[in-house]
Amino acid sequence: MMMNQMARFLPAAVKDLSSMPLLPRLLARRQLGTEYYRDSVSSTSQPSPRGRETSLHNFFAPGGMLSARHPAYEFRHGQLQMAQAIEEALTERRHLIVEAGTGTGKTLAYLVPAIRSGKRVIISTGTKNLQEQLFYKDIPFLERALIPRGECKLAVCYMKGRDNYLCRKRLYDLTAQPVLSGLEEIEQYRAIAAWEKTTPTGDRAELASLPEASALWHKLDARAETCLGRKCSLFETCFITEMHRRAMESDIIIVNHHLFFADLAIKRASEYAPDAGILPEVGAVIFDEAHELEDVAGRYFGVSVSNLRVEDLARDVESALQRNKLLSTPLTGALKSLRERSQLFFSVLPQGEGRFAFENRRDFLEERGDEFNALGRALRGLRAQLENLPAKPEEVFTFLRRAQELEVQLGFLMDSDDKNTVFWIERRGRAFSPRSHPSAMHRPGSREKAKEKTGGPGSIAEGGERQNVFLQATPIDVAPILKNTLFEKLESAVLTSATLAVEGGFQYMRQRLGLEHARELVLPSHFDYAQQALLYLPPDLPDPQAPQFVEKAAARIRRLLAITRGRAFVLFTSYALMHQVHERLLGEIEFPMLLQGKAPKNVLLQEFRLTPNAVLLGTSSFWQGVDVQGEQLSAVIIDRLPFAVPSDPVVAARMRSINADGGNAFYQYQVPAAVITLKQGFGRLIRSLHDRGLLVLLDNRILKKAYGRVFVESLPDYRRTTELRVVEEFFRTQTGPGSEPEDQRLGETSRKMRG
Ligand code: SF4
Repeated sequence: MMMNQMARFLPAAVKDLSSMPLLPRLLARRQLGTEYYRDSVSSTSQPSPRGRETSLHNFFAPGGMLSARHPAYEFRHGQLQMAQAIEEALTERRHLIVEAGTGTGKTLAYLVPAIRSGKRVIISTGTKNLQEQLFYKDIPFLERALIPRGECKLAVCYMKGRDNYLCRKRLYDLTAQPVLSGLEEIEQYRAIAAWEKTTPTGDRAELASLPEASALWHKLDARAETCLGRKCSLFETCFITEMHRRAMESDIIIVNHHLFFADLAIKRASEYAPDAGILPEVGAVIFDEAHELEDVAGRYFGVSVSNLRVEDLARDVESALQRNKLLSTPLTGALKSLRERSQLFFSVLPQGEGRFAFENRRDFLEERGDEFNALGRALRGLRAQLENLPAKPEEVFTFLRRAQELEVQLGFLMDSDDKNTVFWIERRGRAFSPRSHPSAMHRPGSREKAKEKTGGPGSIAEGGERQNVFLQATPIDVAPILKNTLFEKLESAVLTSATLAVEGGFQYMRQRLGLEHARELVLPSHFDYAQQALLYLPPDLPDPQAPQFVEKAAARIRRLLAITRGRAFVLFTSYALMHQVHERLLGEIEFPMLLQGKAPKNVLLQEFRLTPNAVLLGTSSFWQGVDVQGEQLSAVIIDRLPFAVPSDPVVAARMRSINADGGNAFYQYQVPAAVITLKQGFGRLIRSLHDRGLLVLLDNRILKKAYGRVFVESLPDYRRTTELRVVEEFFRTQTGPGSEPEDQRLGETSRKMRG
């Protein structure tokens, strides 16, 4: 186990993690008056059951409360079934896994039993859209429906990751010693300083004018790493303190998976110290969009050290010491040494594009042990200088902790032989060649010159793009970690999503997540997929690996778009393929084309919604969490079966591990993961009872390979065809192809696919 290994290796670091910002359990109640918190008139911190006056059946059934109050009410049997299963799980303290397709109305199906349970419940979701829907739409609606007289209303809070909130201490420190670069930062600073005086939440979302990638915000956010916790002079008025207090007094706490697992990782590292973390104890956690859990958990139970983290530490130390007039010559020297050693160490790490495995760490240390040790010495040197300060301002203790964490985490990343961890490197930004860096050539005295000439990681490379290097350690199998830290500790966990089952079962998901004991439920769809969607599988295209595939695929897409009159998402499994197809379609189709990367995702989506007959070309970020209802989206075309890239270091390590245990990684990991992704991608098309349209998979391995059966049997019962003329007919008619001969042929196709 990686953390056990770390505990052995880095006892001090683990101990230090437990002293990360500690927030009080109970604070004096203060009036918030904020839209991020709906207040309860109850003065206790224990939620009480509400809405129990009627049965779930009477709530959801025709003629019940929901039908009387919801303007677009329709009875959904699956919704009632799901609510009943969740109520049972919460009452009997069991775990439950539910696949509920689009249209089930699953948010009400879990919110109603959560409210009725009388337990404090966390609802964790994958996307901001869903959090906002819950907080601004569904919960207020249920409050009105379940608590009509307004007495004993719900207390609900919506929490985001700490880096969404302003740290008042950092802002005031910056005000005392403004170090701003450029007019843009000065303007941003003015806006933030004025906003800080009035904001009740400190949530940057209130500052619409602040650019997403503001470098200034990075210096002012309330991340745990820089927080002084209770020792901060502004602790009582801190936005994070407020947020924690709200959570303590809430019945329902809405978070995202990142915040949930970041919090769980802190609690685990501190061995569940009572005040560790920011989320309070709860009676149940409901994970919506639960298909994302393995990835997110893997990120937070891992370790990541980058040149940026070292630079941030050096910058924070320098400005704090300057502000406190403590920046002595030895400290300036220690900071200079740290920056140089860091730059050198990260520049000599193995080269590669994007994400790649760091398998030869032993050899690397043999060759580059000097650079690694020098960075360790520089971190210790800085600590020694900080320890020597006669009077230490409070933040110096956080610097000491951060320097020590960096040292022990670097030690783990370079030295650990933990079997359940994959070690890898990620380079973001413009490639940096060690061959062009004389420091990599062991020429004495050449290092400083090299830095001046070529820069290193974190420097602004030619073209203005920063290049940063991340050393990463990720658990290969999160199942044992989740089993011990989550499922064995929680009374009830409910996992739900539209895409959790493979071939109608949950074996894959349960295995990947370590969910051993759980009830299972796969709900029938509320949509009539056989009538609403036609799935076209062209049998004549070359294998996607073949060189002719791009050209033939682009030609087929062109033809399909002519039939659908644009109004399509074309989703790709790689940027390269997306760009190749885009180039071939340019000037060849008469519909407006939108390309991922040309504008932020939400801007592209908005343009797509507003532009008649638009075609949007996108990759992974458009495969899920995107909702376009109506005719504007009439087709979803997917280039190939979305197998995870086997060369990705984490995917490769997981496959190796399954094979080494005697399993078959392709069938046990790659195929089921691709099934879930394909279901997500196709799920973009039918978003309401009135939607109707075409699904296309250009990869006919689904018809030709044995594993294709798993995909076919996992998809909803879309009507399927291998003939273009059926597609044309589908778009000519209002009700889709229905003639007897075609239906017979479709039956043939379907039987062939299943066989
Ligand atoms: S407690 Fe102080 S240092 Fe920590 S986030 Fe709040 S204001 Fe910033």
